[in-house]
Amino acid sequence: MRTPMIAGNWKMNTTVEEAVALVKDMQKELEDISNVEKLVCPPFISLKAVSELLAKSSIKVGAQNMHYEDKGAFTGEVSPLMIKDICHYVIIGHSERRQYFNDDFYINNKVKAANKYGINPILCIGEKLEENQSGLTMDVIERQLEQALAGVEHIGNLVIAYEPIWAIGTGKSASAEQANDTIGAIRQKLGSLYNNKIASTLRILYGGSANAENIAELAGQSEIDGALVGGASLKPEQYISMVKQTSAVYNKK
Ligand code: PEP
Repeated sequence: MRTPMIAGNWKMNTTVEEAVALVKDMQKELEDISNVEKLVCPPFISLKAVSELLAKSSIKVGAQNMHYEDKGAFTGEVSPLMIKDICHYVIIGHSERRQYFNDDFYINNKVKAANKYGINPILCIGEKLEENQSGLTMDVIERQLEQALAGVEHIGNLVIAYEPIWAIGTGKSASAEQANDTIGAIRQKLGSLYNNKIASTLRILYGGSANAENIAELAGQSEIDGALVGGASLKPEQYISMVKQTSAVYNKK
């Protein structure tokens, strides 16, 4: 069985002190839960402090983005070389980065750079509202997968986050059945790009207004392997509850 993941994307929130305090709150409650992978993705500035705090913890640390070059004249950017020793994961292609920072062009290089440095990529894909309403969801997603994974030979450590853009930060989650169907179709596409065996082992998360109210239903679906969580991951009681509920769902699977 695939180990579910509850990943918190803190976006541009928390000072270093706030990040450390937030993690401490979560750690007390979550350290001993072993059937769910717990991941926090604070802003770059907090990664070192949080990773030191979690050095011996079962909670893992991820970055929200990175450049694909090792170093160079890229003012304001952070390279894989700089984060590889403090991050287990890196989020790549979040829709906010695609929208505000033209990340569409760099995603394939970023996936390759993550693989090169042994940082597990969490690749975000998802359609806009108008694409969803025009029945283009799978066209968009297949294109995003093909672009992101072009020339990528090894996907064993890849995590996909299916995040319909219309559900992110809107309070309007996709229904669990809807998300499950799309994630099943994503798995099939990965099977055709690689092979069904590897596709069946990859974790595919749902993201978009996931919270303590809907996580049990989402986690109970056959294809959904947890969630990438924005807003709710900044509220310790919500994040803790989401991990605990997912753990309970998987204990019964
Ligand atoms: C996200 O930022 O990846 C996300 C899913 O945000 P939210 O949970 O707030 O919709």
